[in-house]
Amino acid sequence: MYTKINLDKTDINSEPPTGEPARQQYFMERLKRVVEEKSQEYGRPLTACVQTFGCQMNAKDSEKLLGILLQAGFTASEDEASDFVLYNTCTVRDNANQRVYGRLGYLNSLKQKNPRMTIALCGCMMQEPSVVEKIRKSYRFVDLVFGTHNIFRLAELLYRCYTEKGMVVDIWEKTDQIVEELPARRKYPFKSGVNIMYGCNNFCSYCIVPYVRGRERSREPEEILTEIRTLVADGVVEVMLLGQNVNSYGKTLAEPMTFAELLRQVAKIDGLERIRFMTSHPKDLSDELIEVMRDCPKICRHLHLPLQSGSSRILKKMNRVYDKEQYLALAGKIQREIPDMSLTTDIIVGFPGETEEDFEETLDVVRQVRYDSAFTFIYSKRTGTPAAAMEDQVPEEVVKPRFDRLLKEVQRISSEVCGKDVGKTMTALVEGVDTHDGRLVTGRLSNNIMVHFPGDVSDIGRLIPVLLMESKGFYYMGRKLP
Ligand code: SF4
Repeated sequence: MYTKINLDKTDINSEPPTGEPARQQYFMERLKRVVEEKSQEYGRPLTACVQTFGCQMNAKDSEKLLGILLQAGFTASEDEASDFVLYNTCTVRDNANQRVYGRLGYLNSLKQKNPRMTIALCGCMMQEPSVVEKIRKSYRFVDLVFGTHNIFRLAELLYRCYTEKGMVVDIWEKTDQIVEELPARRKYPFKSGVNIMYGCNNFCSYCIVPYVRGRERSREPEEILTEIRTLVADGVVEVMLLGQNVNSYGKTLAEPMTFAELLRQVAKIDGLERIRFMTSHPKDLSDELIEVMRDCPKICRHLHLPLQSGSSRILKKMNRVYDKEQYLALAGKIQREIPDMSLTTDIIVGFPGETEEDFEETLDVVRQVRYDSAFTFIYSKRTGTPAAAMEDQVPEEVVKPRFDRLLKEVQRISSEVCGKDVGKTMTALVEGVDTHDGRLVTGRLSNNIMVHFPGDVSDIGRLIPVLLMESKGFYYMGRKLP
């Protein structure tokens, strides 16, 4: 599922254009010549491997990065022993950074066996100046380092890698640019993520994202609608609209448009069956959005509504701009207006200053909202964020037991909530053959819960009515209906 772009008119004998995407299209063609020469020299096609760390925004960026590499003549590979290896990194928690440093040692051992190998790093972690300094000093075998704001420049930067000496480093502190018309290699033929905006202006005090992804900027609605129409024409039936906070969509446009209005427009696209979106911040989730979710059957019955903490005192320190009562009122309104809406959330345990009383408030919200599931995290200090400088960092021996208690409570409620649809027929989008039992396929229901049922590869990508026979806690077993 590769969206290639036509570069026949690109003249590589002239000077590189200054405007985008023309400049990158020029370098994709220049790079292609270099890749062809090397392939002849090696007597085989050059391989490229893109590894993605972190969130769906990164996964979507990686599809573009791989698209650019394929356009330039590389062959895609899952194997890190490739001619070109690119890590698209994450830095949301410290362990994400440690994972990359750990894996770099392995890449270095591969490069010692194949000195012609090229190693590159991009993404959120590279937006941290201290990280880039460390790479320059201690990981000199890395050839290319770039960030989040200029991923579209991969062709130009890799061309420089092949034609210049030394490590190429190109980190942009910020940008207001959105470059469209890039090639992309999708992971799934039947579903796709679609960026609607980039960056975040919320500055939650524990979060590094605004510092590495920059200020909010929304794509033009027509660019988004055109991309989705192209995807649908290419066999996609489900899209996931992506943004750090989709509720802020449209504020930077010359003609502002609300996220709810964008959803209405997307829902009009013939052939598109399902719409998902992530992430919606509770502080500005509008009544208009609740109405559109309620009235539009294409919008999936799943909403991820990060809570982070149930304590109003901690929410204030987190700069989340809502308190416990406001969050409960919002969740209550959604559950009343759309009773079959599955709610999931994110919760941080151990935020600086968190007391036992604060933690009990979090448990109280979990018991009141009764989430289908929750991503639970232990607070991770991120240098450069306000929370990292806060006093009263909670000791690990206090945080860990709290984390375990929260997980136990979330799972207890989730196993009660998730079984409620046994006996019903619901439509599943088949995503693949079951990895444990090849006689079964795995499908995703509108409420984002998985169901396994007898089927085969011909079912993949189809929307199939399934009778939910049995609940297994976090998923169902079912039977395909004619
Ligand atoms: S909304 Fe808050 S938690 Fe989410 S990306 Fe923005 S700053 Fe981070």
